[in-house]
Amino acid sequence: MTAAKFQDRSLDPSINRVRKVGDIEVVACCDGILPSRVDVALGIDIAETERLTGVKAGETMWMSVNEYILKFGGKTGLIDTGAADRMYPSLGLLMDNLRKENVDPATIDYVFLTHLHPDHMYGLVGKDGAPNFPNAEVFIHEKEAGFWIDARPTGNPKVDGNQKQVERHLRDYRDRIRVVKDGEVAPGVSVMCCPGHSPGHSAWIVHSRGQSAIMWGDLIHLPNVQMAHTEVTTTYDLDGAMGARSRRRILDMCVADGINALGAHLEFPGFARVVRRGEGFGFEFDF
Ligand SMILES: [Zn+2]
Repeated sequence: MTAAKFQDRSLDPSINRVRKVGDIEVVACCDGILPSRVDVALGIDIAETERLTGVKAGETMWMSVNEYILKFGGKTGLIDTGAADRMYPSLGLLMDNLRKENVDPATIDYVFLTHLHPDHMYGLVGKDGAPNFPNAEVFIHEKEAGFWIDARPTGNPKVDGNQKQVERHLRDYRDRIRVVKDGEVAPGVSVMCCPGHSPGHSAWIVHSRGQSAIMWGDLIHLPNVQMAHTEVTTTYDLDGAMGARSRRRILDMCVADGINALGAHLEFPGFARVVRRGEGFGFEFDF
């Protein structure tokens, strides 16, 4: 898919972006598209990755960057915040898209972060340097918070550079950060650590009246590859082998418990049902 087509899709008002999970309303939002390449896949022949994705090595592969609004019990939550204007010009649409959904960012009560990487947390801070969500509490898993916040330099430039960005983007939220453990943190909203991509990378599970859906952050970057071959990792993962174990565990859980997917990097709006396919998994779009 070309960038222009992808962008059209993310903004297409005819796409139904609203789902009900029991009593909880889930609205898909999009920050835009992020350029990537099939070369990021590790542990698989590049020719096979090209075949599965339809993208050639060296070519740009566009990934959607999705966020999800949750409306429950008179409260409004947001899972992940996009990249604002500090990553790629093809990102930074979330604030406009929230307003299109008639959600005033000042009325967001909770921000739930899957992890502290640029395309998921830069959007905490606006173009003017002020917090985008002035009244929200920000929920971060204790393992992710412990790794990035007030951490010592590690000598790994990928980590140390991001630590500085974490500091900058959380500065104005310091007294509103809620560091949480696995389990329910708000009525019908639970967090589950699925580490590997980052040490405290977490999924947010929405559950109500016997229905559930999971926003799994960066558990899957290349759906056509990593669903069938869960062992395939990417250069984005800090600990690929651990991430692969988390991927299989979460996908197994989705099938066993009938949990639908809200995919951060699945094609917008990212609603999908996980099914078993051979040794691996597949999707049925959507739910
Ligand atoms: Zn990501």
